Amino acid sequence: MRKKFIVGNWKMNQNRESIEHFFQTLNIDSATCETWIAPQALHIPLLLEKKAKKQILVGAQDINENSNGAFTGENAAEAVLDLGATFCLVGHSERRAIYKEGHDLLNKKLHHALKVGLITIFCVGETLEERNNGMTEAVLKNQLTKGLKDFPNDELSAARLVIAYEPVWAIGTGEVASPEQAEEAHDFIRKTLSTELDLSGEHIPLLYGGSVKPSNAESLLCQKNIDGALVGGASLKGEDYSQLAEIASKPMKL
Ligand code: PEP
Repeated sequence: MRKKFIVGNWKMNQNRESIEHFFQTLNIDSATCETWIAPQALHIPLLLEKKAKKQILVGAQDINENSNGAFTGENAAEAVLDLGATFCLVGHSERRAIYKEGHDLLNKKLHHALKVGLITIFCVGETLEERNNGMTEAVLKNQLTKGLKDFPNDELSAARLVIAYEPVWAIGTGEVASPEQAEEAHDFIRKTLSTELDLSGEHIPLLYGGSVKPSNAESLLCQKNIDGALVGGASLKGEDYSQLAEIASKPMKL
């Protein structure tokens, strides 16, 4: 059975005091799931210092597609790795919608992160309008085939890939996808990875994201094709994060 994941996306939140409090209230000593957090890039060193005794992997919420140069305000994957972080997100819906990041740019970022050696969580998901127009599968297929174009066909690269299915209408809205809706999309993504991209979809962790919290996590995490959760709001508090990790550590009935 694949290990479950709880990945916190802290977005542009937290400060030194709230991070201190997070770690004081965090209790994941008996968790057996993967516990990852992507804070603001500025907080990566602080998290690496704080997590010392906890089994948390630290990552970035985004990276630039270049190694270095005149890109004011951007963060290089090389610098993220150099600090000791191990993963990054690429293609979060807020990057796609607010910063207009398109398929080609996201594809460049993905290739760059993998080449540098970061595990990459590539995010996909449809808007409400697209879902209501019956376009969910077409949108996911398009995002996957364009974003993962020319994905290197080697074991190391495949081992560095995680996909997050995050329906845009469920992110930060409190409206969570039903376990059936989420499972259907995950099943489709897994099949698409194999049929369209020649990737062994079986081994690639697929995370659900969108208003996951302790009260709804179990019904989502027990779905066959859901390997974990990418969590925004409910990952900010140590107590909630700990509860999510406890749920993800339970043996799930499929
Ligand atoms: C996210 O930011 O990836 C996310 C899923 O946010 P939330 O859990 O707050 O919906």
